[in-house]
Amino acid sequence: MTRRALIAGNWKMNMLRAGGEALAAALTSGIKPGASADLLVCPPATLLAPVSAVLADSSVALGAQDCHMNEAGAHTGDISAAMIKDLGAAYVIVGHSERRADHAESDVIVRAKAAAVLAAGLTPIICVGETEAERDAGEAETIVGKQIRGSVPEAAAEDTIVIAYEPVWAIGTGRTPTVDDIAAMHAHMRQVAGNVLGGADKLRLLYGGSVKPGNAVEILALEDVDGALVGGASLKAEDFLAIAAAAP
Ligand code: PEP
Repeated sequence: MTRRALIAGNWKMNMLRAGGEALAAALTSGIKPGASADLLVCPPATLLAPVSAVLADSSVALGAQDCHMNEAGAHTGDISAAMIKDLGAAYVIVGHSERRADHAESDVIVRAKAAAVLAAGLTPIICVGETEAERDAGEAETIVGKQIRGSVPEAAAEDTIVIAYEPVWAIGTGRTPTVDDIAAMHAHMRQVAGNVLGGADKLRLLYGGSVKPGNAVEILALEDVDGALVGGASLKAEDFLAIAAAAP
């Protein structure tokens, strides 16, 4: 089964308008025709509209970093999946470990958000991943399996969601699991997700956590790794494009 790679950039809480527009423009002009990977950028909510304008008519897709679980209503400061769609986005990251930690987002909340994203006709990128203490205790696969079972909504199908494995201890630290550990975790994830979804041959599984041009080739070559979720290195067009070019 050939799954097309997805290279997603999570800009987190970075960039003002001029910088975001310039980065998006650099990606649209730098992406190679016939590239083997889909490219996606997820700017902060404030930049969804201006970045959407820059990406219009390009092959670079737009996504958001979070959304509310409800369609509309009295939720001051939040934005809905429909609002994100209205700005031309196709994806929403849900359950990033920074949101799970900073905003106490449980699997139940992540699942409701992913359901809202699907209901709006967008693709959720559902993030899972163990802490360092959990890996040291030999619990990484158990934790990630539990997160997948708890965070994937009932309406999901293997080709309507993306799951990103992001070990918490690898995010922004420059450390990564060994390629053998990544391969083992992704094989486990495909098995668990296959049970939940009734099949996972078409499911795209991303790896995230300190992906750089220097380690992208060996990570993206792994059989069950179908792309990357990239934080720090997505803020430099040259690095992000080099990671995309590393996709087989
Ligand atoms: C992330 O936050 O999704 C991420 C993978 O960050 P970094 O690439 O900087 O580790």
